[in-house]
Parts: sequence; structure tokens; C-alpha cells
Amino acid sequence: MNLDALWNYMQIDLKADKFESDMRQFPKRQLLLKHRNFLKDQQANIAKIESDVSNMNTRMEAVKEEVIRLTALLSEQKAQLEKNPPKTLEEVQEKSAAVSKVLEALTHFEQELQKMRKDADMRDRQQKDIRVRAAKAKAEFDQVKIEYDREFARDTIELKELRAKVEKEGAKIDEADLERYKKIKQHVTPPMALLMDSQCSGCFMSLPLGTLRDAKGSEQITVCDNCGRILYLKD
Ligand SMILES: [Zn+2]
Repeated sequence: MNLDALWNYMQIDLKADKFESDMRQFPKRQLLLKHRNFLKDQQANIAKIESDVSNMNTRMEAVKEEVIRLTALLSEQKAQLEKNPPKTLEEVQEKSAAVSKVLEALTHFEQELQKMRKDADMRDRQQKDIRVRAAKAKAEFDQVKIEYDREFARDTIELKELRAKVEKEGAKIDEADLERYKKIKQHVTPPMALLMDSQCSGCFMSLPLGTLRDAKGSEQITVCDNCGRILYLKD
């Protein structure tokens, strides 16, 4: 059977496939994905810091209120002492212990406040840093995207032209043969193989005599017994 047309068809069909898969592997596309992932990470970082800052603010408010309460308690204790000075040693000890306790708590909270202010400053700087980096990444992303879109549009046209060529070539082939080709291509590609030295050049199996005879003389498409490719005998 003369499979020259089908063989030629396969050449441009595979070329179009390769072009399409190359389009997907574009370095620019990969770069674009990389930038996009980086941006996503930065956004997640910013969200995390924002949530930390919000928690810290809540705690800071609570601590500030506690400091106000303790300061008021301290002045009240002082006023009481002035009004009713302790008379016994026991009373002195008792009152001074109470005052110390309040002072201790105040110191503790003031230290916590100080630490939180430092933390807040650090987070502020971190956030600024991340925003600057994210803005830079976004600008790069936009630039690559413009180039990518341009290339993609150009390649889409080229691919369309290639596919049109494939179709034109396909019109020269018997419909049933073309269907067979497409079905085989779903399982193995390239779907045709040269028959050389009684071997299938797709899988290198030596073919049985019956298959060889069919490939040479039959009016039907002959496929490799092993890999299922259409066998093509070049003149
Ligand atoms: Zn084979």
C-alpha cells in the first residue's frame, strides 16, 4: 500500500505538535510562573505580618489599660498611707508589700510594652522591605508578561497556520486511513515507523514473515505486531 501521503502528513503533523509543546515550555512562560509564585509568597508574608501586628495591637491595648489601672491603684495606695499612716510594724510591712506588688506588676507590663514597641518597629521594617521587593517583582512580572503575550500571540498565529497545513495535507488521504492514524497516535507517537531490514524502526522488533508480506503487498494498512505503529516501506 502506498503510504507516502500519510508519511508526509505525519511529518507536518508532528512538527505542529512539537511547536505547540514548545510553546508551553517557553522560557518566558516558566519565568512568568516563577515571578507569579514569588509574588504569591510575598503576599502571604505580608498577610502573616499584618495578622501578627493586629494581634500585637490588641495585646498592647490590654497592657496599656492594665498599666493605667495599676497606676491608679498605686496613687490610691499612697493616698491611703498618707491618710492612715501604719501604726504597727506589721501594718508597715503589710502595706509596703502591697505597694511592692503593684510596682512589680507595673514594671513587668512596662517592660512588655517596650518589647512590643520594638517588635512593632521591626515588623514595620520587614513589611516595608517585603513591599519594596514585591513591587519590584510585580514590575518585572508585568514586563515579562507583555513580552510573553506578544510572543504568544505571534506563535498562536504560527501554530494556526501549521494546523491548517496539516489539515490540507490530511485532505489528500483516505478518511479511514487518517482515522486509523489518529487512533494509533493516541497510544504511540510517532504513529508510523519505517520498515527497515525486516525490522520495525519504531521498536526495533524483527517482524514475522506474514507482517512483512502484508506491509509489502497488502492494500490495507499494516501495523507492527509489537508496538502497533503503521509500517511504512520507503521505495
Ligand atoms: Zn514496532
